[in-house]
Amino acid sequence: MTRRGRLAEAGHQARLPSSEPRPHSGPVRTCVGCRAPGSRSALLRVVVVQDLLVVDVARSMPGRGAWLHPDPGCLELATRRRAFGRALRHAGPFDTAVIAEHLESQMHHDAG
Ligand SMILES: [Zn+2]
Repeated sequence: MTRRGRLAEAGHQARLPSSEPRPHSGPVRTCVGCRAPGSRSALLRVVVVQDLLVVDVARSMPGRGAWLHPDPGCLELATRRRAFGRALRHAGPFDTAVIAEHLESQMHHDAG
């Protein structure tokens, strides 16, 4: 049982080119869950509003933001590592229910 194997199953960071330049890929952020880099447009921006984690859909809310793949596995990893607390400079604990719901609705949307 390796973490590497588990991450490979998620698949979304498996196709990163190792050496090719990507001139127009835009700003790169790091997912607070799996710690893999991703383009700003591919990651969700998560902010804290009164101890509640919410998705900053427009990526324009003020204050600190944490970046997360739209993947329940990444949400779980981030929660277990208390990565949101570090990224958002907030002691927590946080309620991640809103984020989880958002991910679920996105998945259903994509599937349909
Ligand atoms: Zn991730």
